[in-house]
Amino acid sequence: MPEIFIDGVAVAAKDGQTVMEAARDAGVYIPGFCWHPQLSVAGNCRLCMVEVEGETGGWMDIACNMPATRGMKVLTNSPRVRERRKVMLEMVLLNHPVDCGVCDKAGECMLQDYHYEHNGAPSVSTVPKVRATKFHDLSSRILLDNERCVLCSRCVRFTREVSRSHALGIVARGDHSLVRCDEKRSLDDDPYSDNVVDICPVGALLSRRFLYKSRVWYLQKTPSVCPGCERGCTIDLWHRKAEWRLNALDARHNTAIERVTPRENPAVNGPWICNKARDLPDLLERARAEGPMLKGRRVAMAEALAAARQLVEAARRPVALVSSWGSNEELAAAHAALAGRFRCHVKADHAPRPGERLADDLLIRPDKNPNGRRARELFGEAPPALEGADLVLAWGEGFDFADVPRGARTILLNAFLAPENGHADAFFATTLQTERAGHYTNFAGTVSAFTPICPAAPHTVDAEAVFAALAVRPRVSA
Ligand code: SF4
Ligand code: SF4
Repeated sequence: MPEIFIDGVAVAAKDGQTVMEAARDAGVYIPGFCWHPQLSVAGNCRLCMVEVEGETGGWMDIACNMPATRGMKVLTNSPRVRERRKVMLEMVLLNHPVDCGVCDKAGECMLQDYHYEHNGAPSVSTVPKVRATKFHDLSSRILLDNERCVLCSRCVRFTREVSRSHALGIVARGDHSLVRCDEKRSLDDDPYSDNVVDICPVGALLSRRFLYKSRVWYLQKTPSVCPGCERGCTIDLWHRKAEWRLNALDARHNTAIERVTPRENPAVNGPWICNKARDLPDLLERARAEGPMLKGRRVAMAEALAAARQLVEAARRPVALVSSWGSNEELAAAHAALAGRFRCHVKADHAPRPGERLADDLLIRPDKNPNGRRARELFGEAPPALEGADLVLAWGEGFDFADVPRGARTILLNAFLAPENGHADAFFATTLQTERAGHYTNFAGTVSAFTPICPAAPHTVDAEAVFAALAVRPRVSA
């Protein structure tokens, strides 16, 4: 462990660390566009220049590529360092359009922040800026504004080192350099492509989903878990802050998921997620089931619960199909209510979609349901089988009424609008993970929490509450 001195303070660097890594571990922030903790060192933005003190006057070097060596004395905020940062930012801004007023990255842009902290002066250029491509179609999901690009190469390194699609590169030289897609590859084939939007330090890479939808300062992020597969990546759901509530426009703007980003978690997904998580609004914002029903007739919740209890009491061979999208808490409630009384099977609510990557060695897992492991721990591994059932309780999606034995009665719990909801003898519209708190256990046994972003939809009920009600046996009169 080499001891180095950063701004006069002794720091124990780890073996093999660079000055940048040792400084950040010690809480000293050294700016930089191209350096990223999960990518190789490019050393091209030169913004992380620090001064190394030496007997002959010392020297300047980039902290991201300088090994921390015993006794090294580094200054991160000396007059020489401040001057060098200012000059580098002046150079970056020579051709940058500074169109922050219409840029999606405004509010979380490193260039904006660094300019205010380390430069702040008007442009020194007296010649017109070099123009480049605006709104270049990088893929069906991502647009590129080359005028905003600072050529840090983070996006290129991501596709080479993390997603390994090798889809991006830099063509031409100097002022004419452009990030471009490889002619023989498509960024559309990279299921992790949207991570480049997050790691782009400026607003050069733009998500079509989020383009001009909101300003980030109107939004807040809430921790959640991606239910797209059994990896259970931790994510942030971005939605409108209560103090910026819209009254004149469609009220759905106030509860909508505006964007999804990774919530860094070394135990599960590191700083990345796949594109399926980015598209969660398509899944979670589908039309919702409208309320409790008996054979398609809308009834009050108490009436539906009483009818369901009677069905359970009357059944001799009841079978339950347990949702692998249920939270740990809901599964525990289902287990307490059903196990011993029902023959229980875990079902897959969602199967892989056509063309979806089944699995890889980065994040994506073959089971496209978030809580199959916990469900199978509680209810066993036996595949769904309904033979001989006189009552079928089906929870969640992925259930086909055609499989119900002739004459059997049905209780269905589903959050979304579906024609078969009206076929059930008793139906309950359930809440979503965006409306309640809970936990999922991923394939490796790691438990992650999700929290609500909006109130429950009208006439919905937590599956937990339905199971608790079914567990209560009617009193036997004397
Ligand atoms: S598009 Fe963004 S991430 Fe890629 S090189 Fe340009 S600034 Fe860097
Ligand atoms: S790897 Fe699985 S859990 Fe992670 S973001 Fe993709 S679909 Fe969601």
